[in-house]
Amino acid sequence: MKIFYDERMLLHRIPDGMFDSCPSPLLEKQIEQPEGADRIINTVSVLKRGPLGNRLSWGTPVSATDKELLEFHTEEYLQRLKEADKTGEYLSPSTYLPKGGLEVARLAAGAALSALRYVLGGEGLMSYGICRPPNHHAQPNMADGYCFINGIGLAALEAIAQGYKKIAIIDWDVHHGNGTQAGFYNREDILTISMHMDHGSWGTSHPETGKVDEIGIAAGTGFNINLPLPFGAGDICYTSVFEQCVVPKVQAFNPDLIILANGQDANQFDPNGRQMVTMAGYYRMASQLRELVQEVCGGKLVMTQEGGYNPSYAPLCAYAVAAGLLGAEMEIEDPIAFYPEDSLRAEGDVRALKERHPLF
Ligand SMILES: [Zn+2]
Repeated sequence: MKIFYDERMLLHRIPDGMFDSCPSPLLEKQIEQPEGADRIINTVSVLKRGPLGNRLSWGTPVSATDKELLEFHTEEYLQRLKEADKTGEYLSPSTYLPKGGLEVARLAAGAALSALRYVLGGEGLMSYGICRPPNHHAQPNMADGYCFINGIGLAALEAIAQGYKKIAIIDWDVHHGNGTQAGFYNREDILTISMHMDHGSWGTSHPETGKVDEIGIAAGTGFNINLPLPFGAGDICYTSVFEQCVVPKVQAFNPDLIILANGQDANQFDPNGRQMVTMAGYYRMASQLRELVQEVCGGKLVMTQEGGYNPSYAPLCAYAVAAGLLGAEMEIEDPIAFYPEDSLRAEGDVRALKERHPLF
């Protein structure tokens, strides 16, 4: 697996804030928003220093150009980004483009393109663009959810331009991949599947709901699949949905290439998610995905880094994904897995607890 990354992505500095909102006057000590550099610094270090170190190679991405951006985004939006770049500006309540930040966003999108070109050029089967800022909320004409340029969209369109007939995009970030959905909503040659927390729309920058009835339009009807999952879903729910919903749809679509929007913010400690997935859950899903890409597209997989905001646990989940995709053993122990079968997640569990508890 080859990874494309550039330390200049760490320069993307967004203002302090409470979770993904603006700073709260109630707080005496303001803290950095979760989309900070530390999560990426640690993802890189775990991959380099961990047991997979000798199975990974590293490359430097090229920056995405205006021409490449305009394959997915509108001219009007590109001009908006260039204006905001001069001074720094909030483009939505959670999405601040710092002064000069457009170049970093180009580099992040370029990591997705470089990862695609590696696989397209036959240099290897799997690649991983470490993208910061991330991609999947960026819509053709709107920034959203920390995202400015949709590198997933750029990569999928370049693959089509290079002769690939069908691309499947699987998004297991805990948030709905609304930007990618918006870009490909009317297309039958790009299947978009998003597994996410059932959070719905979060305002004007995110008009899509991520609900099951958003299935595409015109020729694209049936080629956008939303899989909203309940809060606290956990490993069993995620791996079951992947096996029973994602796998058969991708098999039926039979793509030439799969792109994974690889967010780790469904993890059990994420400040921006509530889904309780552990390293073991990510490892299992990645193993399922490994089988799928081998079956349908000769093992070709391009990944982009999306969310994942706990700066120690999300990087361990990124390792678990890489280990599953490479068919390696998971050699790093989960430091504090909270297994969902032990949790009180449903009324039935509470009933069972009461039945066996001597004081109820
Ligand atoms: Zn996310």
